[in-house]
This record gives sequence, C-alpha cells and structure tokens, in this order.
Amino acid sequence: RFITFEGIDGAGKSTHIDYVTGLLKAKNRQVVLTREPGGTGLGEKLREILLHDKMTPETEALLMFAARREHLADIIEPALRRGEWVLSDRFTDASFAYQGGGRGLAREKLRQLETWVHPHLQPDLTFLFDVSPDIAQTRLEAARSPDKFEREKADFFNRVRGEYLRRAKEFPERFRIIDSSRPIAAIRETLKTLIGKLD
Ligand code: C5P
Repeated sequence: RFITFEGIDGAGKSTHIDYVTGLLKAKNRQVVLTREPGGTGLGEKLREILLHDKMTPETEALLMFAARREHLADIIEPALRRGEWVLSDRFTDASFAYQGGGRGLAREKLRQLETWVHPHLQPDLTFLFDVSPDIAQTRLEAARSPDKFEREKADFFNRVRGEYLRRAKEFPERFRIIDSSRPIAAIRETLKTLIGKLD
C-alpha cells in the first residue's frame, strides 16, 4: 500500500507520519518511510537546490518531477513490489498545490508531467493535514528556522491550501482531510481509527 502525507508547511505532517509508522510497525507491517523532494541520493541533492536556489515555476516543477522519477524507480516501486507499505511525506499532490496553486503553473502542464512520470500509480490513501497559514506559521516559528518556501507570504500558502482542498474534493475516495488545528492527541485518535480500518 502507498500512503501519502500532505499539507502546507507547518501543518504537522512530519510529526504524524512518525506516529502512523509506529502504528503500522506495531501491527508488524514492513514500512518504508520516505519523503519528497528527496528520498534518494540524487533526490536529496535536488531538494537542496529546490529549497535554496531561485528559479522559475517551470524549472521547479521539472526538478520536482525529476526527483520523483528517481524516487519511484529506486524506492517506491520496488517496495510496493515487495508488498511493503510505503509512507511518503509529500508526493504529486504537493506539485499541484505548490507549483500549481502556489506558483501559478497551469494544472494541465502538471497533469502532463504526472502522466509521463507515473501514468498508472496513485496513492491508495492521502492524509491532508489542513490548517490555516496563520496557525501553521506560528508553529513553524516556534519549531525551526524558515527556509525559502516558508518565508513566502500567507496568500501563497492560502493558494496552496486551496489547491490541496480542491484535489481532496476531486479525489474523495483516496483523500482524508485531517483538521490539523486540533491538539496532537486528538489528531492521533483520528489517525488510529483510520489506520485501524486498513487491513
Ligand atoms: O515537506 P517539507 O517541509 O520537507 O518540504 C520542503 C519544502 O519544499 C517545503 O517548504 C515545501 O513548501 C516545498 N515543496 C514545494 N513543492 C513540492 C514539495 C515541497 O514547494 N512539490
């Protein structure tokens, strides 16, 4: 199974992916925990460039999908073939949300890249940790130093959030929207219930 974790910066997905990994391991599942951009040696190098260099939205999208191609070939597809559970901190929904919603790239362009890079594979389940940019920003300031993306304005994150929510509506069968403004303990309860429903 392939489960992805999405949300704007500061939505808390990294905290919760660790919790879900623990839940699955407690059920003796083989779990591969990975992230985007990154996940492979080349992917992590591309991540560094993506996080720190200035570039056009087109270049950003192309590098994201280049990293994703390696991620699929090296990590995701082999693990799924072995019958393992793959948990990814972000996947293609993030490209639609950030490069599309946030940076204004046409959805159709992103669809073309998606069709090229992974025509058949989609996550079985996507947790969308949804929170307002205001709350997310407050959490980030308390937790770590801002990088290029986090310094962008609240309206950027509002557009990213809007595109995530639009996709959740478009693909309701795989999306689960988690209200991430709630306390961590309450979110864990929700996740436990949702994971408990999977075989
Ligand atoms: O999820 P994580 O915090 O590791 O993501 C690193 C940065 O990359 C974030 O600031 C996120 O906004 C950005 N990103 C992006 N487009 C993607 C994936 C991540 O702009 N497709």
